[in-house]
Amino acid sequence: MKLNKLTITQAHHRLKKKEFSVKELTKDCLNEIKKQDSKINAFITVFEKQAIKQAEEIDKRIRVQGVDNLLTGIPLGIKDNILIKDTICTGGSQILKNYQASYDATVIKKLRQQGVVFLGKTNLDEFAMGSSTENSGFGPTKNPHNLEHVPGGSSGGSAAALAGQMCLGALGSDTGGSIRQPASFCGIVGIKPSYGRVSRYGLMAMASSLDQIGSLGSCVDDAAILLQAIEGKDSLDSTSKQSDYPIKIPELKSLKNFKIGLPKEYFIQGLDLEIKELIDKVIKKLQGQGVEFVEVSLPNTKHALACYYIIMPAEVSANLARYDGIKYGLSSAQGKDLLDVYLNSRSQGFGEEAQRRIMLGAYTLSAGYYDAYYLQAQKVRTLIKQDFERVWQQNIDCLLTPTTPTPAWKIGEKINDPLSMYLADVYTVSVNLAGLPGISLPAGKVNDLPVGCQLIGNHFQENKILQVAKTIEKAVFVGLTKNG
Ligand code: GLN
Repeated sequence: MKLNKLTITQAHHRLKKKEFSVKELTKDCLNEIKKQDSKINAFITVFEKQAIKQAEEIDKRIRVQGVDNLLTGIPLGIKDNILIKDTICTGGSQILKNYQASYDATVIKKLRQQGVVFLGKTNLDEFAMGSSTENSGFGPTKNPHNLEHVPGGSSGGSAAALAGQMCLGALGSDTGGSIRQPASFCGIVGIKPSYGRVSRYGLMAMASSLDQIGSLGSCVDDAAILLQAIEGKDSLDSTSKQSDYPIKIPELKSLKNFKIGLPKEYFIQGLDLEIKELIDKVIKKLQGQGVEFVEVSLPNTKHALACYYIIMPAEVSANLARYDGIKYGLSSAQGKDLLDVYLNSRSQGFGEEAQRRIMLGAYTLSAGYYDAYYLQAQKVRTLIKQDFERVWQQNIDCLLTPTTPTPAWKIGEKINDPLSMYLADVYTVSVNLAGLPGISLPAGKVNDLPVGCQLIGNHFQENKILQVAKTIEKAVFVGLTKNG
């Protein structure tokens, strides 16, 4: 068996037994990238030489101190909006195609300490704005399950790299669904942690009040192992927090006395019927395990997309102001004065979707429109948060929903219709608006394409959703993930 097909846990045990070296494991991943990535385009940059060098160093370290962490020697893909010192970090944008990171993101520092191998930087929608990875300045990523279909986005490169068995795990970022939706489309597991669990230091900011870095794994344990390694308070991100509930690798335990809510607003028209049937199957199986299901209501769900697509572009327009061709990015643009240089750099460097969101955001923040749009959306955001709070007061442990209303669509199908692309985020954005943790894991296939189900937890209750996810993986959909 080729080593790139292993789960993190399997590779860990076998590295411990010295069955192979980190270099051999890394080489198998790099060979798979060579074999497949000209078709899939999951990576923007592959660290071919550096990864081998890093692997050799970790092999040396293992000879001295053994395999002392779950992630020692594990080759990973990193979304290309997370900084790795002295390497190019594009954010999926041509405006940063030559930008070299001068420091490590906190999550990268933490992974380095564990002794991981960085294989390369994965493709994404420009500055993480999109749901298909077609908005990348470096060409679209394809879904390894069917190359004519999108892998989802914006962490589509990370999801496709993992589903294509080019790496053993990956990091992504999730502002409105960008980890969970591609995980769903690519048949893997993706976790968006509670806002504040993971430091955002060194993540290129898209919409700072919504952004979180999270993990993608080919089974629930792998996603949990990665999240455990990167969590924690960081003095460099004042919105990060030490949780009283550190991430545990879930054990298979009885779910008796568990109460799971089914938000009725998530099971309405627009949801693919076959996806609905798959979710019903999960419900039935979990009932068989002693779980009680109750219908709950999140009445402001109908405003979630509108609210997200006001708040997010407002923050985008502020965060992307720094890419002016002088401080950061493309500076080849000429102009008659400074303003002209700014304008030329930004029109040449940013793609269509980035420009659309910058304009929308600037509009909703401008005097005269601020009250009608931005302020109003902030109030609706509070209502959405309160919807969830009311549900938790009913002693609900977590919520079960579809991750996406449809399976992966065809490349090109929605790219000229941004609104229909935005509608695909209907089940994921509320979680970010409320700062809650969410996980997507495989629920089955529709037309031979994977689809996921989503579990949503209360703040910092990732362990609960991980435990339910583990039961779904082991007891309900045996064989859908590598561990199931
Ligand atoms: N698809 C959503 C958007 O385009 C979410 C993106 C994300 O989570 N980074 O905004």
